[in-house]
Amino acid sequence: MSRCLTDRSIDHVVLERGEVGNSWKTERWDSLRLLTPNWQSRLPGFGYDGSDPDGYRTMPETIAFIDRYAEEISAPVRTHTRVSSVAPRDGGYAIATSEGDWQCRTVVIATGACNMPSVPEVTETVPSSIATLTPFCYRNPGQVAEGGVLVVGASATGTQIAEEIQRSGRPVMLSVGEHVRVPRVYRGRDIKWWMDKAGVLDERYDQIDDIERARKVPSLQLAGSPERRTVDLNALTRIGVQLVGRIAGIQNGKAQFSGSLRNLCTLADLKMNRLLDRIDQWSAENGFDGEVDPPHRFEATVVEASPPLGIDLVRHGIRTILWATGFRPDLSWLHVPVFDRKGRIRHDGGVVEAPGVYLMGMPFLRRRKSSLIDGAADDARDLSAHLASFLDHRR
Ligand SMILES: Cc1cc2nc3c(=O)[nH]c(=O)nc-3n(C[C@H](O)[C@H](O)[C@H](O)COP(=O)(O)OP(=O)(O)OC[C@H]3O[C@@H](n4cnc5c(N)ncnc54)[C@H](O)[C@@H]3O)c2cc1C
Repeated sequence: MSRCLTDRSIDHVVLERGEVGNSWKTERWDSLRLLTPNWQSRLPGFGYDGSDPDGYRTMPETIAFIDRYAEEISAPVRTHTRVSSVAPRDGGYAIATSEGDWQCRTVVIATGACNMPSVPEVTETVPSSIATLTPFCYRNPGQVAEGGVLVVGASATGTQIAEEIQRSGRPVMLSVGEHVRVPRVYRGRDIKWWMDKAGVLDERYDQIDDIERARKVPSLQLAGSPERRTVDLNALTRIGVQLVGRIAGIQNGKAQFSGSLRNLCTLADLKMNRLLDRIDQWSAENGFDGEVDPPHRFEATVVEASPPLGIDLVRHGIRTILWATGFRPDLSWLHVPVFDRKGRIRHDGGVVEAPGVYLMGMPFLRRRKSSLIDGAADDARDLSAHLASFLDHRR
C-alpha cells in the first residue's frame, strides 16, 4: 500500500509496533518455510529474482525479502511505534501511538489477520499437568516435553507441526476438524501454479455465492519443503500420527472427540477432486495437456475403522496440547463504530464503512489470494485508487 500511495504522490506514514517484517521475525516457528513458491511473492514492482523460483523461502529468507522491499521503495516506516487508538476527530482520525499522536484524513488498517491464536474454550478445562502451547510460542520440538502430544487442528499449521513433533520421537495424536486437502504437486506442477494459472486465486469477493463462508475456510493443508513433500493426513498416518475427530470437550481429564472424522475426510477428498477436475478442464481447454503429466487421482484419506471418541489424556500419555486452531486479528485499538455483532469490521472489499478507512490482508478481502503476500499487490492497487478518489472528493 505504501508503494501504491507513493506512486500516487499521496503523503503517508507507516506505523509499525516492531520492526519491518515483524510477524515473520517474532511469531513463527524455526523450521517454517513459506508454503507459497518463491515466484508467488509478487509485490508492486518487486518480485523474485533468484535462481530457484519453485523453492519455498525459509524465515530468514522471507525476512530479508520484506526488508529489501521496504528499503527499495523507501517506505516511510516508523518502527517501534505501537498504535493504541484510532478514533474519529475533525472529519478525519486521531491516532494515538507509543511515540506521539497523529491526525490524518485516511487510515489503512494493515495490522494483519493473524495477531493472536484463536483457541477454543475447552482449553480452560485442560488438566494442570498438561502443558499447552499455541503456534505463537511454539518454536521447535526441543521445547516440548517428552511424551505424547495432542495437536488440535489439521490445516497448514497443525499438519506441519504435527509432522515435525512426530519425527522428533514424541507420539502425536491429531484432532481433525474441517480441512482443505490438496497435493503439493499435481501433474508435475506445484498446486499453487495451477491455482494461479486457472484463476482460482483471482476469484473476487463479489462473485462468490457465500462470501461469509469463503472467508472462514481454513488454510490449505500444505507445507513448503525442498523435497516438495505433500503433508496430508495419509502422509501423517504413514509416519505414525494417530487421527481423531474434532475436539468436542475436555471433562475430568477426558477429551471427547466428535464422530465426524470420516465424513470430514470424505468431504475434503471430494473437494480436492473437484479442484483437480477444474484444473484438468482448464489444462485441456488452454492447450497445456502436452506440457504436463497426465491427470490422475490420489488415494482417499485412510481413517481407521473406529477412531477413539474419548481418551483419558494423562493415562494416554499426553503431556502437551498444541492448539493449531487458527488465528485472529487484534483490532482492540480501533475506536471507530464499524464492527458488526460478531466483532468483525463491516467493509466492502476492504472499503470500510467509515469515510476514508481501508482494510488490507484479511482472508478473501477482495480476492481468494488476499491474505497471501501475493494478494497484497492487486488489493493495494484497487484500494489506493479508491483512497485517492476519496481525497480528491474531499478537496
Ligand atoms: C503461520 C503462518 C504462515 C503463513 N505462510 C504464508 C505463506 O507461506 N505465504 C503467504 O503468502 N502468506 C503466508 N501467511 C500469511 C501471511 O501472514 C500474509 O501473507 C502476510 O504476512 C500478510 O501481511 P500483512 O502485512 O497483511 O500482515 P502481517 O505480516 O501480520 O503484518 C502486520 C504488521 O502490523 C503490525 N502491527 C499489528 N498491530 C499493530 C499496532 N497496534 N500498531 C502498530 N503496528 C501493528 C505487526 O507488528 C506486523 O508487522 C502465513 C501466515 C501465518 C500465520
